[in-house]
Amino acid sequence: MSNTPIIDLRSDTVTRPTPGMREAIARAIVGDDVLGDDPTVIALQERVAAMFGKEAACFVPTGTMANQTAIRAHTEHGDEIIAHEGSHIIHYETGAPAALSGCMIRPLAGAGGLFETADVENAIRQDSVHFPRSRLLIIENTHNRGGGTVWPLAQVERVAAVARERGLRTHLDGARLWNACAATGHAPADYAKHFDTISACFSKGLGCPAGSIVVGSRDIIGRVSRFRKMFGGTMRQSGVLAAAAIHALDHHVDRLKDDHANAKHLAQSLGTVTGLRLAPDQQSLGVQSNMVFIDLDPALAFDAHALSGCLKERGVLILPVAPRRLRAVCHLDVNRVAVDRAITILSDVVCTG
Ligand SMILES: *Cc1c(COP(=O)(O)O)cnc(C)c1O
Repeated sequence: MSNTPIIDLRSDTVTRPTPGMREAIARAIVGDDVLGDDPTVIALQERVAAMFGKEAACFVPTGTMANQTAIRAHTEHGDEIIAHEGSHIIHYETGAPAALSGCMIRPLAGAGGLFETADVENAIRQDSVHFPRSRLLIIENTHNRGGGTVWPLAQVERVAAVARERGLRTHLDGARLWNACAATGHAPADYAKHFDTISACFSKGLGCPAGSIVVGSRDIIGRVSRFRKMFGGTMRQSGVLAAAAIHALDHHVDRLKDDHANAKHLAQSLGTVTGLRLAPDQQSLGVQSNMVFIDLDPALAFDAHALSGCLKERGVLILPVAPRRLRAVCHLDVNRVAVDRAITILSDVVCTG
């Protein structure tokens, strides 16, 4: 095993910067972004704002900070956010909407992380002294816990329209928006035009070591960058990170469809492994982007945690996300040969128990 590289399917965040990206980082011309004069950060912000059809953008260290500065910029304490019950902002951001913005979240149900206009209509509060104020609708695309599900553009349009008509702001958690675009062929701006703010990550499928961005109008991005400073996320020579993001936009966007093809291939091959199957949401909705959720047959003697331990010994890393569920994510550092090897090892380990 010592000579075989690890196949790391835990997340698309595990990618290491490529030699080309490291060169771009080394060449970056930098300034002091707290003083507002890092030319590479400015160039990245202008490029992404244009790509999303918005006036301005703000480069931040993480996707969590991107979402939380946007939430803070849109809301007041006591406001209510409407979002899917499986949202990243609910499960993986340490309660930040409550801690940093004093907001409640009204969770909506729906297969794959999606919901409909009626769900939003029913959740919006009447204007009353008794109720929290419904202030912000958040859609997550692709939806992580939902299975890497892609929101159809028409559904985004009608759901966001309901929120806007009722005076709510709209935010898109687009940590993996480029995956949604790769899956549908739509441009980022096609999705972005239905939202006041959009967050997007360079550190996921695009393969950067760190960095995310918030995009919106000049006014709202002014507030976002104020809260970025307050939350401790305004950096100095961050042009080194922005250079990685610019490199990724040039070289790593078109290839996302390869990750999606590899994920579909992985899902199809699971059919041949007795004891494993796709999670129900993915069975009905299909594998839509780079994530595969694998359920263990109740008859198997071991659980997801034990299986992930055995796989690790054989050089394959897959994340257990529930007692009988694993999540495998395809990315830049896993090619088709590696996916095939992971499948062979997976079926070996499951069959020999
Ligand atoms: C990863 C992720 C984030 C947050 O990103 P971090 O950089 O890990 O803070 C936000 N939303 C979604 C949907 C994500 O998958």
